[in-house]
Amino acid sequence: MPCPWGLFPSLDKETVGELQKQFEHSSFSQAEKWINTCLGSHQETCPGIFETSLPTRVLDVGTTSSDIRLVETNGCFGSYTSLSHCWGGAQPLTTTRDNFQKHVVSIPWEMIPKTFQDAIRFNRHLGIRYLWIDSLCIIQQDSDDWARESAKMCDVYENAYVTIAASSASNSTQGLFLQDTWDLLSLQISSAGAQGVEFFGRRAGPDHPRTQITPEHEGNEDWPLFERAWVLQERLMSPRVVHFCKHEVAWECGRGTLCQCTAITPTGKSAYRQTVLQAEPSALHVQWRELVQVYSSLKLSYLSDKLPALSGLAKQMMRKRPGARYLAGVWSDSLEIDLLWTRWRNPSMLSGIDGAAANRQAPSWSWTAIDARVDFLNEGTVRLKWVYSRILDITTTLETTDPTGRVSGGELTISGRFFDATVCLRTISVEKRGQDQPLETVEFGLTIAETGRTVWEVSEDHWNEDALFFDFAMDPFGCGRGVVQPADGVKLLRMACIRHWSDGYQIPRGYGNLVQADEAEYALILLRCEMAKTYRRVGMLIQRRVRRFEVAKYTDGDAGLWQDYPNAFGSLGILDTINIV
Ligand SMILES: [Zn+2]
Ligand SMILES: [Zn+2]
Repeated sequence: MPCPWGLFPSLDKETVGELQKQFEHSSFSQAEKWINTCLGSHQETCPGIFETSLPTRVLDVGTTSSDIRLVETNGCFGSYTSLSHCWGGAQPLTTTRDNFQKHVVSIPWEMIPKTFQDAIRFNRHLGIRYLWIDSLCIIQQDSDDWARESAKMCDVYENAYVTIAASSASNSTQGLFLQDTWDLLSLQISSAGAQGVEFFGRRAGPDHPRTQITPEHEGNEDWPLFERAWVLQERLMSPRVVHFCKHEVAWECGRGTLCQCTAITPTGKSAYRQTVLQAEPSALHVQWRELVQVYSSLKLSYLSDKLPALSGLAKQMMRKRPGARYLAGVWSDSLEIDLLWTRWRNPSMLSGIDGAAANRQAPSWSWTAIDARVDFLNEGTVRLKWVYSRILDITTTLETTDPTGRVSGGELTISGRFFDATVCLRTISVEKRGQDQPLETVEFGLTIAETGRTVWEVSEDHWNEDALFFDFAMDPFGCGRGVVQPADGVKLLRMACIRHWSDGYQIPRGYGNLVQADEAEYALILLRCEMAKTYRRVGMLIQRRVRRFEVAKYTDGDAGLWQDYPNAFGSLGILDTINIV
């Protein structure tokens, strides 16, 4: 059947205006119904906040366009909503030290950008007097106020009555509803002898944001809000979120996901909420690493915000992990795996240099040291078989009083097994391009001195082969094409051996009579710093071993199994204690 939309005449301006108002009203009412259902019957999963201690400052939305103003709350109680939005470059309206006194008296309606105006109208529809918007309620260009208020972000979103997400708008002037994209029609139906009836329609949204909070998370180019790193914690900490999407409103709470056209798929917010509520330690450890995988793929305007934009979620996690210390994005009670992050790399980038910016303030052992998506082990199917190193001490230097905020350094003292390695380079392909210099694609390798075994950079089939994952650029040693060996060479610190599937040979991966054993050795790639016994992490070496075998043949366990496929290190290396900064 052909799409009926094109068959109808376009509507006149006046009708469109009237319809937009109607649809807006019906969207507000739908969102209100979801909120009421959530507050009324989701007590176990979605805390109902009616009266709470208000954030430091809130916007009083008043009842008419002339009585909007900024209020200092001094700890008063009340209900408020919070706005989650894209700044998208310069903000047309912010609160600064200069205009603060004016904003306390009144903020003229015509100065307020459209997204904020829409949020104010939604607040009034709900009968909620206060609204929290970061750019108005935190004093901009005042670093003290910013440090103080951004550290409270966790409470701001956790205690909000509902969070209003401007999910389709790429800046604050576009509004909650992107009416220009609405596809409207009217339809006259009449039958003989009866009065005609006119129906109005709005086309259902052709797509929904891919908002999964799982490691399989993908980019959301068409949904500016979901690309922003700050927004992940705003969404996850809020008990309830109304998303104002291009064609409809959608809902997320601890119980699930809904939308007006009913075609949305679950987003993972409720699963996250369950894990946090149940607070089972190992599930929390996995949850954190999954969050980091998603978070590290999102966009930040300032690399120095890497820790602040996650600090709310870290605080929420901290309450559930009493006794654990939070150290620049990793946790003291799960360091063995938290430190085994690798930089995620798309194989198609093999031919290019992709120098991810380095955050030199962060310690190199923390994933926050690089501006790139990172991966952790998928723990559903793995377990640590051996841990070769012992962490003696780990500290960070905080830049503010916020234990989950910015750091200016950190030190990891670790005792373990060290191996010398040398750098090598090979040409993978040469592409001739007319008169130009031929384009050469090269790859770095590391040769482990003791065994002479070379492990190369990640190849296309990187899940089944040995690989190097460099943290920064393709030339982490700064040695250039001449392959000058860095002074004192490179050290490898053997960290752990991971076994996929929990029980060695009795694994649920049958190939006829064969079963599969699957192991990976993880070693940090380290470069020496000027200070004695001090190194920086520059990457991770992973050696994978996969064997398919008949169970009966290997009665002598591991030794027999791996005999003809030795690990790359050969021995246990040289025992030493060093600092990684
Ligand atoms: Zn709910
Ligand atoms: Zn929908």
